[in-house]
Amino acid sequence: MNNRRVSKAIKIGGVTIGGGAPVVVQSMTKTDTRDARATIRQIKELEECGCELVRVAVPDAEAARAISGIKKGIAVPLIADIHFDYRLALMALEAGADGLRLNPGNIGEPEKVKAVALAAKERSAPIRIGVNAGSLPRKANPRLSVAGRMVAAALEQIRLLESLDFDLIKVSLKAFDVPTTIEAYQSIAEKIPYPLHIGITEAGTPRTGIIRSTAGIGTLLWLGIGDTIRVSLTAHPREEVIAAYEILKSLNLRQHGPVLVSCPTCGRSEVDVVKLAEAVEERLVKIDKPLKVAVMGCVVNGPGEAKDADVGIACGKGKGVIFKKGKKVATVDEKDFLTVLMREVEGYE
Ligand code: SF4
Repeated sequence: MNNRRVSKAIKIGGVTIGGGAPVVVQSMTKTDTRDARATIRQIKELEECGCELVRVAVPDAEAARAISGIKKGIAVPLIADIHFDYRLALMALEAGADGLRLNPGNIGEPEKVKAVALAAKERSAPIRIGVNAGSLPRKANPRLSVAGRMVAAALEQIRLLESLDFDLIKVSLKAFDVPTTIEAYQSIAEKIPYPLHIGITEAGTPRTGIIRSTAGIGTLLWLGIGDTIRVSLTAHPREEVIAAYEILKSLNLRQHGPVLVSCPTCGRSEVDVVKLAEAVEERLVKIDKPLKVAVMGCVVNGPGEAKDADVGIACGKGKGVIFKKGKKVATVDEKDFLTVLMREVEGYE
């Protein structure tokens, strides 16, 4: 991997973004923010799978006010997502939001952005300038490419915040189109010192969205760009956090819980490897040991193919061999595959 771009560090609540800190995983709730109980419940689920920053939509004053109650029930820092009405940003800060996300394309006059910056500065709350390709300012220069217009929109807002002596800035430039997103981030990465929040917007359902996100986020991370990531999926936000860690783990940028190695299964297998691997994957979400766990479909190639796994199973007809650190430790009946494998994982020292 190329060297990581060096960005200025900022802090949202107790979480450092940029300045060489590990890439931070964040997500966004999908509950009605005005329903504080449901929102807290979902944030707790996100905390359980390792989410480090959570954003909530603030569509109206009631949602902004709900932030103070939500904050009392959660441990992760909370970012308020504001569109159109700068007064909601002021209210969210008042209610205890640790950071803001503003879309410069729809907040309007500089005076409004100014008011928000002053209030955020008082509370040391960073602001993310979140530019989306789909909502660029109307006056954007039509001669520029979409990526160029995104960069120009972000730079304009950054300069405005800087003129107010505000530098707790984070920037995102998201598009659905992966090459456009990569071009925009590469361009802005050379122009500003601030940390970058990276992601592909409206990426889709998990099946396609994880692939689009990995193509975009993975490429940028490989180029050394990106200080915090959000995988946007049309799914429960827990899926976003799991996918984000898988991207980071596959690039060796973060260690987070186990890695599952599972064979694609083929005509040699005599058990339902897909079902077993999915069940193991589900159970591994709550384990935080950095283990490599293997689920292999046959005893012929299984142990060999997974020899560097910490714990694994090679399934045969009605029976499976459990191995640990490359050595066979037990033979178990098919009905016990999951239980015994997970017992070995949980007890692994
Ligand atoms: S481990 Fe066995 S079942 Fe799985 S893909 Fe390899 S040969 Fe096929």
